This record gives sequence, structure tokens and C-alpha cells, in this order.
Amino acid sequence: MNDNPQLSLVIPCYNEEGNLRALVEAIRDGADPLKVPYEIVITDDCSTDSSWNVLKQLAAFDPRIRPQRLEKNSGESAASWAGMKSARGDVIVTLDADLQNDARDLPQLLDALNRFDCACGTRVQSRQKGDNVVRIISSRLANWVRNALSGENITDAGCTYRAFKRRCIADLKFFKGMHRFLPTLFKIEGFTVTEVPVRTNPRFAGQSHYGVWNRLFASFYDLLAVRWMKKRMFKFKIAEKLH
Ligand code: UDP
Ligand code: MG
Repeated sequence: MNDNPQLSLVIPCYNEEGNLRALVEAIRDGADPLKVPYEIVITDDCSTDSSWNVLKQLAAFDPRIRPQRLEKNSGESAASWAGMKSARGDVIVTLDADLQNDARDLPQLLDALNRFDCACGTRVQSRQKGDNVVRIISSRLANWVRNALSGENITDAGCTYRAFKRRCIADLKFFKGMHRFLPTLFKIEGFTVTEVPVRTNPRFAGQSHYGVWNRLFASFYDLLAVRWMKKRMFKFKIAEKLH
């Protein structure tokens, strides 16, 4: 049994039946050499394919795999958040179920946590390998608008391959679409964030859940909320205190 994992890999999953076995294999290959007790928390966002059956089979042979299934399809942010809430490790790594994120990058992401509270993967140098031109341009444009409106300088906010200390999420307010703003939300809470170059692979099986339209525009409304939060939330520090 694995009752005391230090590292939780948190993965949202919607209709990823063709990816899950390979995903678990890739994570084992990447995480076993780290010699850190870990768990794999996969949240099935009420898939309509056989993802849940595959997850049950995988969990039956490996107690480190902890799948849960949402009652309704609730979107990537909700599935990811449900996984983070269930995570038991002091360190959380979020990644996609489609093997676009590469478990071989785990050491670099985790190493950065010796100096920062959160390390965000950035695919800027590796994108041409895993993505088509439309996707790269729409993602860059979305990233630019996001940075301009939220006063950020994140090179790849759309990359959800991130490692962070679990305490970063203790006081976080979650909302639909917030997975795109996690680094900014962490900074608002006073945590330190850095970026680490990561690989990008082509999707192993299945199709992306996003098109140009929802990649570019879906987050605009959320962006205004994050901009507001960044301006208005308290940022004071206690200078001195007695008794
Ligand atoms: N996902 C989810 N619920 C949804 C849509 C997506 O849990 O309603 C998951 C999906 O299975 C994947 C991750 O969120 O693990 C990111 O989705 P996708 O790979 O389609 O996004 P992209 O990498 O193309 O931006
Ligand atoms: Mg993906």
C-alpha cells in the first residue's frame, strides 16, 4: 500500500480511453527513479467513452492509482480542482491525460521547488514538435492578451504542466476556467512562481477538447475577474506584532 505519498500527480480526464494505459506507464517511467512515494489522482470528468472502466482496471493492479469520477461533465478546471482536493502529497504536479506533457520533465519541475513555491512548465521552445500552427498562433495570442490585461509576464499560461507545494492551494478560490490563471492566483496569495522549459509531445490518442474559439475567447470574462482580484485583494504584510 502507499498510504503516505509525498508527491501527487493530478490529472483531469475526459474521454481519454486511448491514453490512460500509456499515461500511467509514462508516469511510472518518469516517477519511479525519483524514489519518492507518489500517487496518481485521475479525475474522470464523467467521460462518455470507456475511460472510467480503464481507470478501474488500472487501479485494481496499482494502489498508487486513485481514480475518481465526477457525476457530471464539469470541465477541465473542475476536474483538476477535484483532483487537487483529493491529493495527499506535499507536492502536487498537474498534467494532461494525453501524454502531451512529458514525465521525463518531472525532475526539473520538482528541482525548481527547492527555490520557488510553484514551477510552471513553458512549452515555448518545444511547441513546433507537438502542436500545429493554428494551435500555436491562437495559444500565443491568448497568452499575449492574458498577460496584457492581467499585468503578467508568463510565457505560456496555457501550459497546465505545473509543480507546486500543496499549501499554495489552501486558500484559493476556484472557478471555471481558473486552471489558466493558476500562477497569477498563486502570486496574489504571496507565493513565488518560476517557469521551467518542458517538452511538448503530439497528443497520443483522441482529440483536443478545445478549438481556436474557446482557446482564444472563453477566458476573456475570467481574465477580467483575475485582473480585478489582482488589483483589489489585500496585499499587506504584518510588520510587527506583540503578544
Ligand atoms: N478535460 C477535462 N474535462 C473537459 C475537457 C478536458 O477533464 O471537459 C481534460 C482532458 O482530458 C485533458 C485536459 O483536460 O486531460 C486538457 O484537455 P486537452 O488536452 O483537450 O486540452 P489542450 O491540451 O488541447 O489544450
Ligand atoms: Mg492536451
